[in-house]
Amino acid sequence: MKKFAIAIHGGAESVNPGELDKEKEEAYRQGLAEALKEGYEVLEKGGSALDAVEAAVNSMERNVVFNAGRGASLTQRGENEFDAAIMDGNTLRVGAVGGVRYVQHPISLAKVILQKCEHCLLVGTGAEEFALANNLPLKGPEYFITPEKRETWLDKQQEKAERKGMPGSMTDTVGAVALDINGNLAAATSTGGLTHQLKGRVGDTPIIGGGTLANNEVCAVSCTGEGEVIMRGVLAHEVYALMKYAGNSLQSATDKAVQLHDDKLKGDRGILAMDTAGKVAFGFNTGFMKRGYHAADEEPYIALWESEKLKKPAKQKEMEK
Ligand code: ASP
Repeated sequence: MKKFAIAIHGGAESVNPGELDKEKEEAYRQGLAEALKEGYEVLEKGGSALDAVEAAVNSMERNVVFNAGRGASLTQRGENEFDAAIMDGNTLRVGAVGGVRYVQHPISLAKVILQKCEHCLLVGTGAEEFALANNLPLKGPEYFITPEKRETWLDKQQEKAERKGMPGSMTDTVGAVALDINGNLAAATSTGGLTHQLKGRVGDTPIIGGGTLANNEVCAVSCTGEGEVIMRGVLAHEVYALMKYAGNSLQSATDKAVQLHDDKLKGDRGILAMDTAGKVAFGFNTGFMKRGYHAADEEPYIALWESEKLKKPAKQKEMEK
């Protein structure tokens, strides 16, 4: 069987087991499993890494438990503003959007930009006009804003304390990386940004080398956490550079990027990376990162807490005996 693999994340955040109710935890696991399956099926049929990461991210954009598309966080104005980026590691083409409000699937708009636009990054109404011109579905606030997010926003407005089971700064950005049977890597990230962010704030997600990066020669990366910290550390590129120029392994590069300039860059960080062999690394300083991985010929893997370590593939275990 030809090698292929997909890995996803649904955000990293500082949360303790007692702060997350069981129902929400189960909803995360189920949402991750669905997204992983949708991406895996694309690869299994011989589809491209680019289509696989889009499919996985679309699934999480549809799911209200994640902070992307429907159910995403609101700005201080009580509105949605989405950022997304996708990169093809084969052609190094990129599509990214910032601050779009009405596009049902921001990652699909990013992909159309990658495929059809002379520019890499479109923002606001210009990006929405491009979506309309390319027949992508638009939706109004009634589709995106869930009662839960409206309530969080009202709580914030009234400066109420954090509510049980739903810490105020929850960030559930979603992302995916994949390797297809032709050896191509791709990365995609989509987000509603930080809860109660300023109108017009754009995070790391659509910044290539910040929150998203893919290059067939080295790796594909998708980040989550505090966008300002990730951008300032250029963390996706840091993983790439540590592997390419310093010869670090995938996991070591990911771990070092999570710790980079820890004294100056304080904040939540989560990094998902995949190398040219389809191996995966997750690095995070939050204790909690929603994540999943499925490689050809192996069992799918879903985890939330740090203590849930990745199982080794059966073949590797055999070799170590
Ligand atoms: N990185 C995202 C941002 O800053 C947030 C997140 O990962 O949840 O916009």
